[in-house]
Amino acid sequence: MPRGQKSKSRFLLLYGSQRGQAKSIAEEICDQAEGLGVVADAYCLSQKEKYNLEKEIAPVVFVVSTTGDGEPPDTALAFVRGIKKKTLPSDHFEHMRYALLALGDTNYSNFCNCGKTIDSRLQELGAKRFYPTGHADDGVGLEIVVEPWIEGLWEAVRKALSEMSASGQERLDQAETDPNGYVGKQDEPNTDKFGGDLNIQLLSLHDPVPGLSDVGPQREGAGAEAGAAYTLLTRSQPPVSESSLSIPTLPPPFIDVQLLNTSPQEVISPFSLPHVPVSRAVRLTGEGAVKTALLLELDEHQMDYQPGDSFDIHCPNSCAEVDELLRRLGLSQQKSCSVQLQLRADTKKKAAQIPSYIPERCSLQYLFTWCLEIRSVLKKAFLRSLVEYTSNPAEKRRLQELCSKQGSAEYNSFIRDPGLCLLDLLRAFTSCLPPLSILIEHLPKLQPRSYSAASSSLSHPGKLLFVFNIVEFPACAERPIPRRGVCTGWLADMVSSVLQPSGGVHTQEMNPGLQTSPKVFVSLRPSSAFHLPADPTVPIVMVGPGTGVAPFIGFLQHREKQRQENQEAAFGETWLFFGCRYKDREFLFREELENFVARGTLTHLKVCFSRDAGDGEELGPKYVQHNLHLHAQQVGNVLLKQNGCFYVCGDARNMAKDVNEALIEIVGKELQVDKLEAMKVVAGLREEKRYLQDIWS
Ligand code: FAD
Repeated sequence: MPRGQKSKSRFLLLYGSQRGQAKSIAEEICDQAEGLGVVADAYCLSQKEKYNLEKEIAPVVFVVSTTGDGEPPDTALAFVRGIKKKTLPSDHFEHMRYALLALGDTNYSNFCNCGKTIDSRLQELGAKRFYPTGHADDGVGLEIVVEPWIEGLWEAVRKALSEMSASGQERLDQAETDPNGYVGKQDEPNTDKFGGDLNIQLLSLHDPVPGLSDVGPQREGAGAEAGAAYTLLTRSQPPVSESSLSIPTLPPPFIDVQLLNTSPQEVISPFSLPHVPVSRAVRLTGEGAVKTALLLELDEHQMDYQPGDSFDIHCPNSCAEVDELLRRLGLSQQKSCSVQLQLRADTKKKAAQIPSYIPERCSLQYLFTWCLEIRSVLKKAFLRSLVEYTSNPAEKRRLQELCSKQGSAEYNSFIRDPGLCLLDLLRAFTSCLPPLSILIEHLPKLQPRSYSAASSSLSHPGKLLFVFNIVEFPACAERPIPRRGVCTGWLADMVSSVLQPSGGVHTQEMNPGLQTSPKVFVSLRPSSAFHLPADPTVPIVMVGPGTGVAPFIGFLQHREKQRQENQEAAFGETWLFFGCRYKDREFLFREELENFVARGTLTHLKVCFSRDAGDGEELGPKYVQHNLHLHAQQVGNVLLKQNGCFYVCGDARNMAKDVNEALIEIVGKELQVDKLEAMKVVAGLREEKRYLQDIWS
């Protein structure tokens, strides 16, 4: 971003983003700074040629996310490597004053690890914090920490700038701070609705809350019934309805859209990626299973993968939802028009860019099908923009409430927790009719979904297998229409007519010719450390309940081939802890696993069934962690005496945490040490890459 006007004070804003969250928070900070008369020079950490921290005399603000198993995002990798160099002297950054906002997810281990690493390394190199570090948790909602952190940042920046003024910094312009810590130029009327002059606008205390019966005009395809079903969302209630509201600044618009009647550029392959046929689809779970698990086999000859690798499936949004959205926006007739995007000449948004993931002159339908995450949960900034395009006064006020500071709890209950998306909102707020440009500005990129390979290319040359549960979101009071996950729902629909019933992985290829098979776009993810040990004599413990068993099927197939090919060689012990609810319906890969045991590839198979207890069978362990405890001594031996490896795959929200706790207890018990010491040992196992996780939520 170019340096701003000389009259304004400036600070440097550096972000490291994997999926765009840190970037969009940095943009938010930039926009607010603009309104306060401060210039934020914002760059991605990877744009090394644009900033020079060795010589930086202005305050520096970092916003960094964490990815995978506590790794830096790809864009921050080189930066982190650079500051970790042991040769740097301890006063290397003595001149630096910085603040840091770390993003993470407590469902994963190593919460905010990238932010924490940068923070502690900057301290070691002499930099001083001018504002406490924020650690925002995506597991409960980033905004819980991000919003107050940004609110408090301005006073801290102002102070840092004034303290640093001796080294050539100019004072922060006349920004005023209200008693609650809100900052705004309250002496200037906010006449330019796109100017973003105020961080927070105060609405009058007695703005009337008009009756909800006074609904706005019906739009194409928007049913009044659907609106009525969302009353929790749409109804203003005390105390928020009676409160004056502090609402975010209107994000400055930056895109102009034209829909051209010329035929759109034909996009043959949306991603220039291999488009591979699905050669087999098997339902792994039986009737009555709580979740439906499917196995898909891809006819993939180009990807060179190892068991333990994962890959991305690039899925489209649901056709029905795209059609409904287009209808609701009054754009159905133009769905084949080509979309031409331009930056608004008058935009006040800093570093405004046309999204790189939207191909030039694609059709409107393509845009909504392949480019935009139309199911993304509505952010407050988006709600704020939608206020401007809502004609009914009651609905307008309600949207203001939902994005306001006072309506935070309601936002969490009615939008964030039930995962409400744009279409839900348009169904409920029938007078809201946003222009296309706003949607392109606010809807994030449609992300591919990752899956772990459930095969070894040694035993399945030219094939790639994976397993997934169809994600179901049942209807709830806040969202009366049930739905399936974007990718798993799409995959399930696509293979429904060729799906084979459960019968193990040895079922027939459904269509040897593959001419008419459904196809998916795939790409391999960067390889992680989640692989079998290079030395086959190293013993391993695998913990993979439910679909978490997937990579271990690949491990075992690989091991089995290695054993067949090297009959004289020695192989380490293999343990697998599997669990599910019901043995008869959800025991995935039962036959294969039992065969691995029979052939000696899998030395110990330990299973448990959480909901089978009480049906006449002896009450056994319920969850994998209970089974680990029952075999504490052997697991301890593998890890602590035989230098073995411990792998965990599957649900990050509960299972991975419980297994981690169990491991700490086992280590404590086996080594006869207290919890703190056991935690250190477990952290050491992680460092040595002997405790590896492939977990997701
Ligand atoms: P989506 O439409 O993306 O919805 C699912 C997510 O949206 C939920 O996780 C939740 O966070 C959120 N959400 C949306 N609406 C709501 C709501 N109303 N209430 C609550 N939450 C909501 N999955 C597998 O099944 N098998 C695998 O082998 C596998 N391997 C993976 C490997 C890696 C490295 C990673 C990162 C993930 C892996 N996953 C795997 C998860 C997988 O990528 C997808 O997240 C999953 O299949 C769901 O995708 P979806 O598009 O169907 O669901």
